[in-house]
Amino acid sequence: MRLVLAVGGVSGFEISGFGPEFREWVRALERLGCVSPVLLMGHTITRDARTGETVHAFRSADLPFGVLMLPCNNRREQICLPCSLLHNGDSFQIVRSGIVGGKGVPADVGTHPRAFVTVTAPSFGPVHREGALCRPRRDKPVCPRGRALSCLALHVPGDPLVGAPLCVECYRYADQVVWNASAGGLWWRYVRALGRELFRAAGLPVTDKAVRETLRVSYARVAEFQRRGVVHFHAVVRVDGPDGGADEPPAWVTGALLVQAAQAAGPRVFMDVPGETGPVRIGLGAQLDAQEIGAGGISDQAAASYLAKYVTKDDGRALVLASPLRSEAWIDQAPRGVLTAHARTLMHTAWRLGGRDDFGTLRLRQWAHQLGFRGNVVTKSRAYSTTYGALRGERQEFRRAAAGVVLPDEVVTESSWRFVSKGLSPRLAEIAAGVAEDVAMRKGQRPSWIPDDEP
Ligand SMILES: [Zn+2]
Ligand SMILES: [Zn+2]
Ligand SMILES: [Zn+2]
Repeated sequence: MRLVLAVGGVSGFEISGFGPEFREWVRALERLGCVSPVLLMGHTITRDARTGETVHAFRSADLPFGVLMLPCNNRREQICLPCSLLHNGDSFQIVRSGIVGGKGVPADVGTHPRAFVTVTAPSFGPVHREGALCRPRRDKPVCPRGRALSCLALHVPGDPLVGAPLCVECYRYADQVVWNASAGGLWWRYVRALGRELFRAAGLPVTDKAVRETLRVSYARVAEFQRRGVVHFHAVVRVDGPDGGADEPPAWVTGALLVQAAQAAGPRVFMDVPGETGPVRIGLGAQLDAQEIGAGGISDQAAASYLAKYVTKDDGRALVLASPLRSEAWIDQAPRGVLTAHARTLMHTAWRLGGRDDFGTLRLRQWAHQLGFRGNVVTKSRAYSTTYGALRGERQEFRRAAAGVVLPDEVVTESSWRFVSKGLSPRLAEIAAGVAEDVAMRKGQRPSWIPDDEP
């Protein structure tokens, strides 16, 4: 049996032979439930601090092929279905506990006013639309450059034209990239405006201080890419007292008032940002949806599943790349089908603007692979609910207890681990996918991690 470590980590971890050690490795994969594990070599030795006696030793040398496999924890179904399902479960718990309590969040939050809110971006020019007739216009308008602004085609899902501009010369690529880069800031302003609008809707005098001392707007938010390459946000928003979930919101804040304020806050949000030819003022799109959670609105359970669903959805398909660009040439080197022409133009725009001093604060080159959008797909406010880290810690605690390891009061731990590879060789990845499929079949889950149509 031979262990082959790929140079540069390109082809990943590889082994040869199918002996007993291989079968043991397959069983480890089964328990791990990940098709793209991270591989490490090293050891962790735990000693009793007083006696120096070894109470627990964990060495990769004792594992099949001498490597420790850790789950990739990827949230995307297309990259690792088993991990995405676990992640989806975690997302669900995080969102759900913020709606009904549990996992360290008081059950009382279920009585607080809550709403499901979707916030969109404004238009940056007309784009082709999926289904029915794309853009039928009897008056057959044209743009200043003479291009048709109507389209009678029927675009099926997956048509690369969906989301692409009708006129690439008039389309406001720079504004869109800057909007994506500012989306987080706009959201934060939206949440603050929401607090003020609650006051206004109740007919109370509005000051930031009064709002802060009376209530707190908590939220869990998911960013989703629309086909036109712009992010929009889905969020669960909850009104607490000033100290968060354990604190009662003022009695005058009702679910209906929250929905009213959530809608009124949209047009109030603006931000001054750099633009192609000087500073511009941006805001949110006119399309803003707010629905009450509980009472007569959507159910607690539906709101949590709805939001968690967006987390594992591979929304940025053919629009974003998984890692930052090392050079502008990367954009055109990405194989066909991996990026649409529209996404490439947006990335080039982000790269170009990123080289200008006046766009420095937006760090556009660092985030060009996400069309300018910075940061995380899922975020929540501090007071909303539990975290991924807490949920993982809980699982580890459970495993440790299940393994029957009882640690003395004072221990010293000596650890040394080095990174071997991220992912497996294509051959082993296929085996891992097969193992995961078997496990999923046994659990009755849908075995769908084989991408349906793309390379
Ligand atoms: Zn995984
Ligand atoms: Zn069209
Ligand atoms: Zn035009």
